[in-house]
Amino acid sequence: MIVKTEFEFIQNYLSDASNFKSNSCDGVFIPESYDELIELVKSSREKKTGITISGAGTGLVGGRVPQSGIVISLEKFNQILNLQLDKKLVDVQCFVTLNELQNYLDGYGLFYPPDPTEKNCSIGGTIATNASGARTLKYGPTRNWIESITIILPDGEIFSLKRGDIIAEGLKFNFKINSGKRFEFTLPDFRMPEVKNAAGYFIQPDMDLIDLFIGSEGTLGIIVEAELKLLNKPDDLISMVIFFDTFDDAYEFVSISRSDNKLDEFKLINPRALEFFDDRSLKFLSSKFPNAQNKKFAVWFEQEIYDCDKDQLIDQISKLILKLNGDLEQIWFAFNEKEINDIKEFRHSISALVNEYISRNNLRKVGTDIAVPSNHFKEFYLYCCDECIKKSINYVGYGHIGNNHLHFNMLPVDKEQNELAIKLYREFCVKAIEMGGTISAEHGIGKLKKQYFELMYPEKVLREMFEIKKIFDPDLILNPGNIFPDKFYKNQL
Ligand SMILES: Cc1cc2nc3c(=O)[nH]c(=O)nc-3n(C[C@H](O)[C@H](O)[C@H](O)COP(=O)(O)OP(=O)(O)OC[C@H]3O[C@@H](n4cnc5c(N)ncnc54)[C@H](O)[C@@H]3O)c2cc1C
Repeated sequence: MIVKTEFEFIQNYLSDASNFKSNSCDGVFIPESYDELIELVKSSREKKTGITISGAGTGLVGGRVPQSGIVISLEKFNQILNLQLDKKLVDVQCFVTLNELQNYLDGYGLFYPPDPTEKNCSIGGTIATNASGARTLKYGPTRNWIESITIILPDGEIFSLKRGDIIAEGLKFNFKINSGKRFEFTLPDFRMPEVKNAAGYFIQPDMDLIDLFIGSEGTLGIIVEAELKLLNKPDDLISMVIFFDTFDDAYEFVSISRSDNKLDEFKLINPRALEFFDDRSLKFLSSKFPNAQNKKFAVWFEQEIYDCDKDQLIDQISKLILKLNGDLEQIWFAFNEKEINDIKEFRHSISALVNEYISRNNLRKVGTDIAVPSNHFKEFYLYCCDECIKKSINYVGYGHIGNNHLHFNMLPVDKEQNELAIKLYREFCVKAIEMGGTISAEHGIGKLKKQYFELMYPEKVLREMFEIKKIFDPDLILNPGNIFPDKFYKNQL
């Protein structure tokens, strides 16, 4: 086991990509075997020392930032263990990065559908946050691609859990783990919003136990291994950025493209990604991508070609673009692998360019991760824009429009505007919840979004959710401070 306590070393574990920071921790522990990890968890439990689990630190809500106690970094568990080509399954340790996995699978003509924009995240981190990405439109979030996980529970027990093995009866779980220890509990009775959602535990009648651990942000157990489902790489791919003069046309293009009830003339259209850029995002992007210069709204469209005629498909997409007043001459079409990657880079660059602008000008970003149901999306987006314009707060809106989920980032220029933006953020959350949406569609709650999570459910529901944590982690040692209000943790410690 590697143990580090010098500040120069541990400071790398005191923040994540959100820039949320902690001042210190009692040390960073880097176990080199599962036995070492188990011993460390057991001794922490005996001493009632808090443990914060660190993946690759690309999270955006401060989840891996320690509040107290020690940090356990899982970085030594970085092996791809076994590929079952016939079953299209791969076993990995938790610290294999998404990039490493995709590069490895490329050689076998396979791919793993979950694709959060940041590729340096660890697979364990993506499971803990149930990460999503552009391809979530077609393939759903990470949970849909997890066949089994191996978890170290907060008492040091190791627990392997396969999808389908342990299912709730209604809201009741009653099961034994490998060691013979029995768990019996009732889930809270509430409905999650029917949108892409990463806020709090996944809870549904008759659910699979594996889904409780996926997306639990490291509060129930440490995921050390996972078996992931894979797909064959498509024969071919169409990728293009389409520019529109109005938001209405851009959104209508999205609505028709993703609809299950298309007219015959658009039947072949079935994108795996529909990503949006508003005029302000395109202005940022034009510094690096001249194609974006002087454009108003854009949609990145990506579709796999399996059994359909590519020319016919392109014909249908072109007709749809023309119907919505788009200009075929202006389309940025990818003709080869390099250009497909250039378009991906275009999408990936927007967050980096916004972040650079913020640090260059010593500003702050107040960024949302809200999703609302389709029937409210347009109203919600226009409301956010209007409120910012009224208060003269600069903003950029981009992201996963196919899932009615944008990263609407406010860019206040001074303290006064920052306060206004934070107030607006809360108002956006309230409005989204009223519309049946979520305050976090993919980043999770961590330590930064707890006050908004409290707006989503009544305190009774949050307390019942917290009771589930206490069943697995009665001493509250695992990822203290994540997801739940501070007062819940304080009352227990
Ligand atoms: C530029 C950029 C773009 C991004 N785009 C997206 C996007 O499109 N979609 C999206 O969903 N996310 C996105 N993210 C967020 C981020 O990549 C994900 O949250 C990622 O899944 C976190 O993985 P990680 O290994 O970095 O975890 P960390 O940041 O280290 O940890 C995240 C949380 O998971 C817990 N954790 C980590 N590993 C484990 C484990 N093995 N067992 C139990 N708990 C664990 C941590 O304690 C923490 O609570 C983006 C981030 C950046 C910087």
